[in-house]
Amino acid sequence: MQVLVINSGSSSIKYQLLEPDNGDVVASGVVQRIGEPVGDGSPTIEHKSDGKTFEHDGPIADHGEGLRLVFDLFAKSGHDLAAADLGAVGHRVVHGGEVFYEPTLITDDVVRAIADLSTLAPLHNPANVTGIESARALLPEVPQVAVFDTAFFHHLPDAAKTYAIDAETAAAHGIRKYGFHGTSHDYVSGRVAEVLGRDRSEINQIVLHLGNGASASAIRGGRAVDTTMGLTPLEGLVMGTRSGDLDPGIIFHLIRAAGMDVQQVDDLLNRRSGIKGLSGVNDFRELGRLIDSGDAAAKLAYEVYIHRLRRYIGAYLVELGRVDAITFTAGVGENDARVRADALAGLSRFGIDVDPDRNTAENRSARYISPEGAEVAVLVVPTNEELAIARASAALVG
Ligand code: AMP
Repeated sequence: MQVLVINSGSSSIKYQLLEPDNGDVVASGVVQRIGEPVGDGSPTIEHKSDGKTFEHDGPIADHGEGLRLVFDLFAKSGHDLAAADLGAVGHRVVHGGEVFYEPTLITDDVVRAIADLSTLAPLHNPANVTGIESARALLPEVPQVAVFDTAFFHHLPDAAKTYAIDAETAAAHGIRKYGFHGTSHDYVSGRVAEVLGRDRSEINQIVLHLGNGASASAIRGGRAVDTTMGLTPLEGLVMGTRSGDLDPGIIFHLIRAAGMDVQQVDDLLNRRSGIKGLSGVNDFRELGRLIDSGDAAAKLAYEVYIHRLRRYIGAYLVELGRVDAITFTAGVGENDARVRADALAGLSRFGIDVDPDRNTAENRSARYISPEGAEVAVLVVPTNEELAIARASAALVG
């Protein structure tokens, strides 16, 4: 059986056709600049299969047209979806609110409920709905499954998920910590248990998902007990373009003193803050080059990033009491040895050490970077949200 996994953004669709049993990727690709005039000459669709890349140039009006063109590229590349052994389409959905906390078979009611949650994720859920509707129209016979980014954190303890604001107001507006990147935290923590050769229920872990978006989680015996993202993916760690934690008073100050409106503050904190806001770049490869060339703003951005990360590692060590594994994943976590070393520097007294040779070794697989026999296993584990979504979808449709 194969599963088509779709991650639909406001102007993009990422997709993979894969085999959930062994994780083999049959084809993958990305549709970009949906609804935008084209302009920069680069292809709007890049489709990869069997080591070849197929491209589409020219504007794409909407998600429906984008998916239709993708289906044409599947056929052209010799993997016609109509003839494939397609068991399910799995959709990544960002916000499940209080309603959804398990992979869910998509019906008209489910689509409506996901759309209703758009007040909690105004950029993401409408895009997810558009992707779901397009895929249902093109593949009406194939079961479609929604896998929610918030699901893994649904059962956070009350003390961790409750914001200390007026309880009635919070209840009326669904205000609680929901957490995001849940599919990744769930998948990676499962892989950690496999690497350690222990049952997930026996171990306590900290997972650091450091990509363009970034979040940390504390996991006790396979269940998340805390995470850094909140009602929205803005809380917590410093990210590529997002501020993470700040004094909420800053928002009032920006409105009163700088004359900003809600949209401007939203744009500032989500798109013009974080590493980008402090240094001008948001990619850690460029940030590293700037630091090495002596750029003071880049150095400060990095130090603020590491400071916040260490603060949460400390918090989760105390919350968990005993930690068996600390794991780095996602674009920065998997690739940036300097971040990994600095995040855990000076913690030997807690049984936490990073071996410099292991940390800098060229190796793409799940691996230890702590020294042999260390009390706390420090690991790098590549995340694979597509595979996790494909497996969850396949399991649901049986
Ligand atoms: P993700 O959101 O997980 O795809 O991560 C994307 C981010 O990972 C990029 O914006 C970079 O900051 C970072 N990244 C990717 N490759 C590397 C690398 N080789 N070294 C350092 N950072 C990297």
